Amino acid sequence: MTEHVTHVVVLGSTGSIGCSTLDVIGASAGQFCLVGLSGHSNIELLASQAREFSPSFLVLTDPNQSKADIAGQIPSTSEVLHGDEGIRKLVTRSEVDVVVSAIVGSAGLWGTWAALEAGKRIALANKETLVTAGPLVMRLAAESGGEILPVDSEHSAIFQALATGRREEVRRVILTASGGPFRNHTKEQLTQVTVEEALRHPTWNMGPKISIDSATMMNKALEIIEARWLFDLRCDQIDVVIHPQSVVHSMVEFVDGSVIAQLSPPDMRLPIQYALTYPHRQQGVADRLDLTKALSLQFEPPDMDRFPALRLGLQVAQRGGTAGTVLNAANEAAVESFLAGELGFNDIVPSCRTVLEHHDFEETPTLDRLLDLDCWARQEIKRWVTA
Ligand code: NAD
Ligand code: MG
Repeated sequence: MTEHVTHVVVLGSTGSIGCSTLDVIGASAGQFCLVGLSGHSNIELLASQAREFSPSFLVLTDPNQSKADIAGQIPSTSEVLHGDEGIRKLVTRSEVDVVVSAIVGSAGLWGTWAALEAGKRIALANKETLVTAGPLVMRLAAESGGEILPVDSEHSAIFQALATGRREEVRRVILTASGGPFRNHTKEQLTQVTVEEALRHPTWNMGPKISIDSATMMNKALEIIEARWLFDLRCDQIDVVIHPQSVVHSMVEFVDGSVIAQLSPPDMRLPIQYALTYPHRQQGVADRLDLTKALSLQFEPPDMDRFPALRLGLQVAQRGGTAGTVLNAANEAAVESFLAGELGFNDIVPSCRTVLEHHDFEETPTLDRLLDLDCWARQEIKRWVTA
């Protein structure tokens, strides 16, 4: 029996999600064909992925990297492309079925946008795309016939749970949050945390930016905004609950009070695979839930005083317009400064709030306006750091 082969592009293949995606593809016995990969600075890993998967295209997104840096280390059949234009050329190719959007930050918007314009299916890990430009991205998908399938585990869970009822029967979605490494820290202890401690997530192994976002709970703030646009929800339909085990990935409550949850061990390979095989399911490499051992699941309300990012996320989701772009870019710059030892952990969220308060809000911005504001918010954080 010949099965349909799904042609996949992985943008950001050298990252945590990118590597997990290649794990899924590698274990699939020929069901997926890797058309192309993109990587930024880790050229050695990109080259080794190219040797293992022989993709037709490799895109170097960092302008400091050139073909000469990678030539000789990759198969002669892999063509090397560069930058935004290379990404566009790759994702719009006619044979491409799915584009895995796994670049970190609003830098991932470009490739996602280009793929959607070409009507592709996106497996979306890059939540910053929806935080930055949710309404424009969702409209583009609707107009072009493109499709966005969530890879973020919470949104994958909600997507699956929503399928059990009708949209008008949904009362609310409940996003679960592990609470991060500082779930039980006092306000005082939060002023003392180091970069190393903040990078050490208790249940997930992720890239540095999202690890810091999880520690401040800005990750959940971004996910509230992501859910708002992806599922067209009102803000009063989005709640957050702390669930330290990261086994229940999120829930949907219907009007009759039934709550439908999706459970699995914390392993991103499952939501990645589901986005690649949707609407089908198949056996995969992700860890399975083992209920032969005792397992306790715990839920508690979030503390918005110790983790003010959550309140900020709800406000920004409510406001819409340019607010998401500014919050996202300010946060990216603040996290970068924290990782560089220039900004305290407890200054990340207040610096974002200040930049938000000082921006010229617009209700229905163009994409160009959003891109300008993305640059502006980063500069404002730099000014805060050097002041
Ligand atoms: P990561 O830092 O491990 O990897 C980031 C990838 O993006 C790398 O391939 C890197 O080369 C590339 N990249 C970095 N800067 C770039 C730029 N300016 N231009 C082009 N490419 C660039 O990050 P990650 O943890 O894999 O996260 C990727 C995305 O997935 C993020 O948006 C994150 O929020 C989301 N996500 C991650 C997880 C997880 O478990 N890691 C879970 C849910 C969602
Ligand atoms: Mg998530």
